Amino acid sequence: MSMPDGRLSCTACDYRGFMVFRRITLAYHFADGTTVDAPRDIRWCSDCGNPRDTESSQPALEPLQAELDALKASSATPRYQVKRWFSRLFGLGADDLQKRADELRGQIRLAKARGDECRCLTCAGVHTFPLTFDENGVCTGFQHDCGGHLKLDPPDMDAPRFNYGRETIHLDEAGKRIQ
Ligand SMILES: [Zn+2]
Ligand SMILES: [Zn+2]
Repeated sequence: MSMPDGRLSCTACDYRGFMVFRRITLAYHFADGTTVDAPRDIRWCSDCGNPRDTESSQPALEPLQAELDALKASSATPRYQVKRWFSRLFGLGADDLQKRADELRGQIRLAKARGDECRCLTCAGVHTFPLTFDENGVCTGFQHDCGGHLKLDPPDMDAPRFNYGRETIHLDEAGKRIQ
């Protein structure tokens, strides 16, 4: 699959930029050897002054913890009904429950380690802002340095499209690239 790159301009200055949709997975490596995968995001980095690949914001802890608690409760009870309820709810067989519990533990650990910080993967800065757009394509996540607003331009259908291979970026538990 290929995607057109997102072209950005500013309503108040002559800034031009691109959002490049590369397929990237982040792998966080904890000091004890545990690895947790997470998706990346594309946000505005105010240190770079451009859209950048960044860490994505962490999911809320409470629902993760609630699911994990419920999973643990289900594996502590031999009752078939509970397991069946789980299979229906999450589409998982009993064998997958352990895997899901491990996944949840990883996500919870990562959410606790990273909090609300979304580091830029280019400069490692933490001043990044969401590239969210309203129905007119105007960015609602932040204001451009000049006081104007960034705008998503209609895709140029004639522009060449690129297929990017899937890439994994390795980070430590502070969200910094491992060299
Ligand atoms: Zn501007
Ligand atoms: Zn940056």
